[in-house]
Amino acid sequence: MKLPFIETNYISANASFEKSRGVILGCPYDGSASFRPGARFGPSAIRRASWGIETFSPYFQRDLSQYPIHDMGDLELPLGEKKTSLGLIRKALGKILSEKKFPILLGGDHLITLPIIGEILQFYPRLCVIQIDAHTDLREEYLGESLSHSTVMRKVVDYLGEGRLFQIGIRSGIEEEFKLARKMKSIVSFDSSFLSSMIKRLRNRPVYITLDLDVMDPSFLPGVGTPEPGGLTFQEFILLLKKLQTLHVIGFDMVELTPDYDSTQISSITASVILREMILAFCFKKDVGRIKKGRKNA
Ligand code: MN
Ligand code: MN
Repeated sequence: MKLPFIETNYISANASFEKSRGVILGCPYDGSASFRPGARFGPSAIRRASWGIETFSPYFQRDLSQYPIHDMGDLELPLGEKKTSLGLIRKALGKILSEKKFPILLGGDHLITLPIIGEILQFYPRLCVIQIDAHTDLREEYLGESLSHSTVMRKVVDYLGEGRLFQIGIRSGIEEEFKLARKMKSIVSFDSSFLSSMIKRLRNRPVYITLDLDVMDPSFLPGVGTPEPGGLTFQEFILLLKKLQTLHVIGFDMVELTPDYDSTQISSITASVILREMILAFCFKKDVGRIKKGRKNA
């Protein structure tokens, strides 16, 4: 007799850790949310919603069930303890990277990307980062706190140096942030000629993608901590993925889903479909050549 339906992993992510290529890890830290908290429930909502979607992608014409993916579940984090939580995320990611797996990280608020980039840089010193987000996240500090989802990309630039962060979808921030972004030339306009020149520059570099789901228009995806009008449609997002899939993406995260602000659950379902598409676009794709790992600080 088959027991009741109790599967809790992301759809078709049934491979063992050893046999997998892609590894999903939930990082449910939301202690730095500046407006609406609740991103700690993001990873579990994405998994739950995934059981209502197909494993086949009509956009990439491939099926998730053909590929070995492992779902590690969510980290248990002492949520009031920021530094401990971030340290635990970094440690878990280190295990995934040292086993040469492709990390698929689910937030949590955007601050989780900081320990992630810190760890990935140990493995890929020539790393470049693409941030897909409504917000600049380049503040020096927020309410006196230097570690926040509003400062995370500023800290990432401290790690990487200027010229290695590329921001897509940006439409909110304070004047100083936009000044800094202009100086660094980090904002890439959502226009095919700008995107193509970014892709040319990133050829042969290891690329990490951090997706803040508030880049999507809140009329399609209202369940985020800091909704911002004027965002991408789902179709525009898929077109973007098709352009970015030629890059040497070595991992990605998806952050800021706060499922409980959307009683229709459309936000979680959309996030779940986006995750399927990103896994197919970046984790399992035709080989596009070798990447140069390079020396430290290259
Ligand atoms: Mn954002
Ligand atoms: Mn963000």
